[in-house]
Amino acid sequence: MLENRTFGARRLLDECKLDALLICNLPNIRYLTGFSGTDGVVVVTAQAVCFLCDSRYTTQARDQVVADQIREYKVKLDGVLDLLREINARRVGFEADVLPYAVWETLRDKGGDIFWEPLSRQLRGLRGRKDAAELECLEQAAQFNVEALDTVLPMIRPGVRECDIALELEFALRRLGGEDRAFDFIVASGERGALPHGVASDKLLQAGELVTVDFGTRYGGYHSDETVTFALGEVSARLREIYEVVLEAQQRAMTAIRPGVSLRQVDAQARQCIAARGFGDYFGHGLGHGLGLEVHEYPTASPRSEDLAEEGMVFSVEPGIYIEGLGGVRIEDTVVVTANGCRKITRIPKEFKVLSL
Ligand code: ZN
Ligand code: ZN
Repeated sequence: MLENRTFGARRLLDECKLDALLICNLPNIRYLTGFSGTDGVVVVTAQAVCFLCDSRYTTQARDQVVADQIREYKVKLDGVLDLLREINARRVGFEADVLPYAVWETLRDKGGDIFWEPLSRQLRGLRGRKDAAELECLEQAAQFNVEALDTVLPMIRPGVRECDIALELEFALRRLGGEDRAFDFIVASGERGALPHGVASDKLLQAGELVTVDFGTRYGGYHSDETVTFALGEVSARLREIYEVVLEAQQRAMTAIRPGVSLRQVDAQARQCIAARGFGDYFGHGLGHGLGLEVHEYPTASPRSEDLAEEGMVFSVEPGIYIEGLGGVRIEDTVVVTANGCRKITRIPKEFKVLSL
């Protein structure tokens, strides 16, 4: 199953004329080999994929790792350099965005005449297109969101603290089989809704407010990320209007998604829709981010994005309007790009919903 995953890495060897690729980033290691532990290294060459770890992980690696070879080291970088010398690697690519400078210095100082090629953009697409097994995990994580919210919905009412809602959601997700929370949950009610990253506080919910809940979990290492905004009883016409504008912007953006389209263009669809209704100054962040083994990964949908949609890419579509002193709305779904459009992975309905008091 994982064989196809080294294809992109091996193509890089070719394109960048490298003898080996040194992979230290855990999500990349998991993607390439299935290893879910928290320390290890992978070396990819044209002939073989080699996984290296210390003795704490050898048993786990034998159980989990799909690779041609599993080796144990005592000192990580010595183990890596021994292997690279054995295979006579002269040009080695590394993950320039994540390899600590001090580690690179050691490699350079001890590596003799090995030439170290920093790779950044070239690695971004490595995990860009999700395969069927990855989509299954993403869908299961999204299903946990549906069921957890169903459990917690009755307690989303006036007089309850934001942080208690966040905590109950976390419990519910874990009970269902979620591996962890995907990030610090946002529960932002009333005026706090104007904070795009308003992590749950001890504020009490009040009637007549909107409450924005941004939450998710992990399954098989893959994340869910979804935002709902509810009305606590009747809300002002202005808040209701904002909701409808954000929902329309989200739908417009989703309609624009198909293979080949620029994600800057998808972002612009939502942004123009919000601007046309007079709220252009109140949508400050990008439209969305890739999602997979990391909760924020390639690609990006924003006014500065240079990424193009490809079939199998998974990213969030999350426009919002945030008005200081009034409140805010964000609506977020995760989508996968299909052959001729996109399909939602997250499942909670996003129509305007008034919770009874
Ligand atoms: Zn989110
Ligand atoms: Zn998100």
